[in-house]
Amino acid sequence: LSAPGREVLEGLNPQQRAAVVHTGVPLLIVAGAGSGKTAVLTRRIAFLLAERDVSPGQILAITFTNKAAAEMRERIVGLVGPRANRMWVSTFHATCVRILRAQSGLLGNRNSNFSIYDADDSRRLLGMIVRDLELDPKKFSPRGTSVHISNFKNELVDPETATAQAAEKDDETLKTLARIYTLYQQRLQAANAFDFDDLIGATVTLLQTHPQVAEYYRRRFRHVLVDEYQDTNHAQYVLVRELVGTDVGTGVAVAPSELCVVGDADQSIYAFRGATIRNIEEFERDFPNAETILLEQNYRSTQTILSAANAVIARNAGRRDKRLWTDSGDGELIVGYVADTEHDEATFIAGEIDSLSDSGEFGYADVAVFYRTNNSSRSLEEIFIRHGIPYKVVGGVRFYERREVRDVVAYLRVVANPDDTVSLRRILNTPRRGIGDRAEACVAVHSENTGVSFYQALLDGAEGKVPLLNTRAVKQIARFVELIEGLRSDFLVAFGAAGSPESDVAVIDAGTESADIGDLTEAIVARTGYRDELEASNDPQDGARLDNLNELISVSREFSADAAGIDPDDRPEPADGEPEPGSLAAFLEKVSLVADADQVPDEGSGVVTLMTLHTAKGLEFPVVFVTGWEDGQFPHMRALGDPAELSEERRLAYVGITRARQRLYVTRSVVRSAWGQPVQNPESRFLQEIPQHLVDWRRTEPRRDSSRYGSRGGVFGGGSFGAGGRGGDAIGSGRRPDSRGPDFRGRSSYSADPTRGRNKRVDVAVGDRVTHPKYGMGKVVGKEGNGPTERVTFDFGTAGRITLMALGGLPVEKL
Ligand code: ATP
Ligand code: MG
Repeated sequence: LSAPGREVLEGLNPQQRAAVVHTGVPLLIVAGAGSGKTAVLTRRIAFLLAERDVSPGQILAITFTNKAAAEMRERIVGLVGPRANRMWVSTFHATCVRILRAQSGLLGNRNSNFSIYDADDSRRLLGMIVRDLELDPKKFSPRGTSVHISNFKNELVDPETATAQAAEKDDETLKTLARIYTLYQQRLQAANAFDFDDLIGATVTLLQTHPQVAEYYRRRFRHVLVDEYQDTNHAQYVLVRELVGTDVGTGVAVAPSELCVVGDADQSIYAFRGATIRNIEEFERDFPNAETILLEQNYRSTQTILSAANAVIARNAGRRDKRLWTDSGDGELIVGYVADTEHDEATFIAGEIDSLSDSGEFGYADVAVFYRTNNSSRSLEEIFIRHGIPYKVVGGVRFYERREVRDVVAYLRVVANPDDTVSLRRILNTPRRGIGDRAEACVAVHSENTGVSFYQALLDGAEGKVPLLNTRAVKQIARFVELIEGLRSDFLVAFGAAGSPESDVAVIDAGTESADIGDLTEAIVARTGYRDELEASNDPQDGARLDNLNELISVSREFSADAAGIDPDDRPEPADGEPEPGSLAAFLEKVSLVADADQVPDEGSGVVTLMTLHTAKGLEFPVVFVTGWEDGQFPHMRALGDPAELSEERRLAYVGITRARQRLYVTRSVVRSAWGQPVQNPESRFLQEIPQHLVDWRRTEPRRDSSRYGSRGGVFGGGSFGAGGRGGDAIGSGRRPDSRGPDFRGRSSYSADPTRGRNKRVDVAVGDRVTHPKYGMGKVVGKEGNGPTERVTFDFGTAGRITLMALGGLPVEKL
């Protein structure tokens, strides 16, 4: 081995080392959390470069987030030097965007300026389609429909197949969905746009229908590596297979590339997005001769934390048992706390963070707080602000999702791609310029009838060639078209051979004296009148909007400036489909593909990180708080009656626990307000699965005292749900030794009943139909007990079965 090669292998255990030096047949590394899977993947790449004579351009590494990609690249550059910058390390989506851009000439139906539609754009388009088809928007809601379409795409089911399947099943709803899907794909194509799922599917189709392209990428990427393989969906699996190639019957004259995937079936938490652990479980069947390496030593957490994680995940059925161990010692006990309310929970957490940071042992950036659902961050934020704890919430409403930011981004997209109908229609009358719905409809009809794009129809409208447009509308449309054309001619630099369709490519020449994206963004905000309108307003909200737009301008300026600073030697070759650094296409790509997890603060940030359990995947923190351990919260209400979903929730618990390196806190609240109503959820069944000797309970739940406690109107998730088989009433079971800490003395009784008087007395009988503010329509399916113990069970259809205490009223209305 060379000296750099030896360095790369330093400190690895024998299994890790075997995985790093493995050559030839496909390799699956399966291992529990914190066992160094990502580390091994990173070292393996470094080893390929340092020792095996592989060039950076021959490597394709796929990570779950852009941030993870950047970190991996950085580590490898640290190990082998800057030439590693030329590798492709990115997410599935970003990889596919690059391939599609590079090969856009072969797609036939998109050019390289294609727009990338996010969930919101897709839903807008679906809304238009449902309206055009005159369907019931309640039955075919954009949200619901988009889930179906996404499922089709994740399974690589094209509109023709969906149509055929619907016909075979003779199901009217499926037939309508297939019609919507067909039209949706046509409109995407006409808009020169792909949605997220398409990026994968279109790349698969490209590789399958163009063997020479598949061959090109196989020759190019001799090494394909995938992290978090347990969260790939079917389309992504097929993509990997196409990229790597197999020996048999492909007609491609290139030996398969080396494949290395790492994953942990116990951490699969994206089934709702089509991820399937089948891909990991069937790896050896999908890739014959494959080898599997198991890693069992954990380098992240203390033994106490690991034992808790092992005990919880062991309750899942049908899994391969693996025992993680560590030689780092037991460490501290897990700290448990039962709060009265979510504010109490947040106050406890803030207090602990304060004392951890006062002790000097941990800084704010060492701490992360996880919750099951995004809306849970609010009470934490309130208390953190009060305590002066710096924090960052990852997720929630993102910068690029704010309305005014989306508006200006839509202008940018239209400048790059005037066919982008969804963006065009978004900005047609934003800011308001007197182009009403009627005018828009006339243009849409003209576009439909004559088969021209919506933009072309607007150009026609400006010349008075669109029927039924009044003169005022014609004038306004002419002004709008002038605005867009002006932006295009002032800011786009022709690129590619003159006269070819590519001459229209939206490139802003970065690094020269000429304009950059910051200038373009600024021009949009000014020329549209957006800035004047916001500046003239007295509404403080508009002030905030203006701030956001200024922020967007500086983000885009920075983007151009960063690009100008890239050493050309470190750039991937432009022929690869990487947009020119600093180009409009590059900027839009970045904006479109940014994800929650990319906002996770860096180690040196000095702030506490707040995020959902889903976003925490792959990360680690010295101190972790996992909050909201309540049945109905975590596990989520939706999962309570469904064993498969319950297993997925348990995997989420496993992911949460295993993020912690030294200290783990688990907290729950007896009462939590949800959908504007205080709700009492019993203790999470997962919390009970943590061996109690591992937990130092700073406060157990208040002793049961029904006269004081008055469990009125609470929503009980336990009991009748079956799946967990737990006893009916989990409140105040008093199982725990009372080990309240000193700071809690004197607060032992729970006297306030925040739910008192909120619910109406409704007498219901089995068979009655009711509505619930959260679950909608339902039916009474059972009643048991009497007086204070009376409980009513409702069936809310897809929302599941829910049992409520009748005492003190029920949060339902009788129909
Ligand atoms: P997850 O399942 O959560 O994604 P993982 O299996 O990818 O975890 P890593 O994040 O790669 O695990 O590693 C966990 C921690 O252990 C990291 O801090 C990593 O640097 C460290 N680590 C991994 N292998 C070793 C080793 N051989 N010696 C010392 N530390 C190691
Ligand atoms: Mg990892």
